[in-house]
Amino acid sequence: MNLQAENTVNPPGNERTAIEFLERYLAGAGLETEILAADDARPNLVGTLTGISDGPALGFLGHVDTVLADPSEWRHDPWSGDVDDGCLWGRGALDMKSQVAAEAVAAASLARSGWRPERGSLKLLFVCDEETGGELGAQWLTATHPDKVRCDMLLNEGGGEAFEYGGRRRYGVCCAEKGIFRFKVTARGTAGHASLPRTGDNALLKLAPLLAALAERQPSYDVVEGPAALLEGLGEDPSDPAAAVAHIGDAEPALLTLLEPMLGVTFTPTMTHASDKVNVIPSRAWLKIDCRVPPGLGEEVVRRRVAEVLGDVEIEFTERVSGNSSPLDTPLMESISRWVTDNDGGAATVPVILPGFSDSRWFRDAFPDCVAYGFFPQRHMTLLDATPLIHNADERIDVRDLGFAAGFYADIARELLG
Ligand SMILES: [Zn+2]
Repeated sequence: MNLQAENTVNPPGNERTAIEFLERYLAGAGLETEILAADDARPNLVGTLTGISDGPALGFLGHVDTVLADPSEWRHDPWSGDVDDGCLWGRGALDMKSQVAAEAVAAASLARSGWRPERGSLKLLFVCDEETGGELGAQWLTATHPDKVRCDMLLNEGGGEAFEYGGRRRYGVCCAEKGIFRFKVTARGTAGHASLPRTGDNALLKLAPLLAALAERQPSYDVVEGPAALLEGLGEDPSDPAAAVAHIGDAEPALLTLLEPMLGVTFTPTMTHASDKVNVIPSRAWLKIDCRVPPGLGEEVVRRRVAEVLGDVEIEFTERVSGNSSPLDTPLMESISRWVTDNDGGAATVPVILPGFSDSRWFRDAFPDCVAYGFFPQRHMTLLDATPLIHNADERIDVRDLGFAAGFYADIARELLG
């Protein structure tokens, strides 16, 4: 069997076979392993290499569940793990069985060679249930078994695909995740009979100027620490984000689509509702907006940006989850940056933030001192190649990047733990 061939589409997940496969693999290489489960069919795995003396715990985190796939849309069976055209194909090949495999191979080959940390410990944390929120996976594990999974430094998904800008290759290190402040805008009027359009006061029509405003523009930028360092790393001026956006848009429009949301609050209207009956003029209409907010900012900034874009409207928050982040200036960041320079001459790292969320959030919440970054270095398949394939048909990874990343995890463990 292989990890890629295991169907772990979540829901329902059914991660047990994949987790047991990894458990045998790590135990066979000499790691201490333990399976911990809130639900028997959906366990998590902790593999440990304990050091000779006390020191920091370095964690390699990965989820083994995936989103669904429709085989009829694929060139290769999404659960084949076929290698073709220099790539390994399958659901999870990028998100994120590839990283799980690279982390496992790195730890197992270190263990088989007889290496043990000089200080601290190396922990492999392979979890279920990330794609639907982590309730049985990272969230449960950090809440129920904090002593078994506590880490000082953690590497997870969310960054590492190379991209070119200004003639230089960069690797994003994901240091933060945006918050989610979804809200509903309500317009009010008076009901009437739809056969007499001038009766009543149609609330639905009052949404039209709001939708037009949302089509026209996004809120002004609110550049927090990570994205400011990103702009600086790209040779742009963080105090003038509009000029930076114009430069990036001229040079690499596709890159701008991915980077611009990091620079501030974003509004995406996704749902609307008015009358329940086609012949009744609605007295009320609402519009739901998926709003993402840089870490460190909250409701007050959202309200200010709503006033800026939509004017004086009635809003109600339907979801409020603050963003989360790790500091940028750390020994882990230094080690990653040094590895990139050593292994891809002329390249550099830049901090990036994830517009969505990952399991890093649970570790940052549970262990406030834990420095968690998303980093899975991919050199041959770039950020612009890989991003459209995630959660999409024909997800695949360049096999050379699997080796590149496995080398990274082995090197970083040796460097940080001795
Ligand atoms: Zn993922």
